[in-house]
Amino acid sequence: MIGQPLPLPLRDGFGRPLRNLRVSVTDRCNLRCQYCMPEEDYVWLPRSSILTFEEIDRLAGIFGALGVHRIRLTGGEPLLRQNLPTLVSLLSRHKTLRDLSLTTNGTLLARSALTLRKAGLRRVTLSFDTLRPQRMRQFARSAKHGDVLEGIDAARSSGFDEVKLNAVVVRGFNDDEVGELFEFARLKGLEIRFIEYMDVGGATHWSIDRVVSRQEILDTLTRRYGPIESLRRPGDAAPAERFALRDGTQFGVVASTTAPFCRTCDRSRLTADGSWLLCLYGEAGLDLRELLRNGADDAHIAARIAETWAARTDRGAEERADAPHRGALYQIDSLRADPRREMHTRGG
Ligand code: SAM
Repeated sequence: MIGQPLPLPLRDGFGRPLRNLRVSVTDRCNLRCQYCMPEEDYVWLPRSSILTFEEIDRLAGIFGALGVHRIRLTGGEPLLRQNLPTLVSLLSRHKTLRDLSLTTNGTLLARSALTLRKAGLRRVTLSFDTLRPQRMRQFARSAKHGDVLEGIDAARSSGFDEVKLNAVVVRGFNDDEVGELFEFARLKGLEIRFIEYMDVGGATHWSIDRVVSRQEILDTLTRRYGPIESLRRPGDAAPAERFALRDGTQFGVVASTTAPFCRTCDRSRLTADGSWLLCLYGEAGLDLRELLRNGADDAHIAARIAETWAARTDRGAEERADAPHRGALYQIDSLRADPRREMHTRGG
């Protein structure tokens, strides 16, 4: 497909390989989590601009030939996209793809978990921030806590290679639940990852004092369970640093705010409308939709992707960590002017 075979993996300006792609399939979400989409209403991407399944599938083939062998479907809430299993089955046919996963809030998972598994989805991560329905009602403006619990159980019984839970820890919201969430995951036989609150696009209420650091999370769990061992291995590229309790129970912490991992970040993101972003904090992306819809052939698109990756020097989280007087990255007006800056548009 690509004229001259390129040496793989493609490496960026800091030697980071192009391997992982997160694909946002919709910018819409049925929750209003305070750390992500705190407003009632948003400027949505025009429907005609959203990539079709065929367009996503074609890009997956091009990225696959360039060494991307892991794809995660995300959003917005990916299960709001009609017929998602059809996309999963298209993508799972790519021989280059070794891992196909989904990040979801779980509210709609119970009814589609098995279909997604049968279509070829390998792994599922559910966002699960609180055990208390009333808190979810306040924090995410949703009464669907019971549906999420059903989604978790449906995922567990559908035969996925892996089911994980993600909990963003926000001071004053759920920082008193770290131990309970851990215990819940353990009882369900699932690995949980605690995520530091990040000052990404939609997090307009972000402030450093609401961030519960990796160290605080570890201290809380150490007080409850005793010594914790880091499972970090040299060269690990995963965003989560993994740990184990003495009894072997494993969990992760994603410390993007206090200990950014830009130097090993091999992730890029495709927005629902086909903009390819090289960093969660990146300002602008390569417009792949325009290339697709203007008749560019695969070799041309691949060449543009390869040259864009080679020029990548982004290290957004590290730059944010160095910023003096750090506050929310954007205010709501600038997000309304450019919805591609939103976390839910670019795919968290
Ligand atoms: N709707 C899906 C979900 O809830 O998992 C997928 C999209 S969501 C944007 C993906 C992930 O981003 C979730 O795990 C969410 O908790 C995380 N996220 C969103 N805003 C965040 C923030 N400000 N800081 C840290 N994580 C955030």
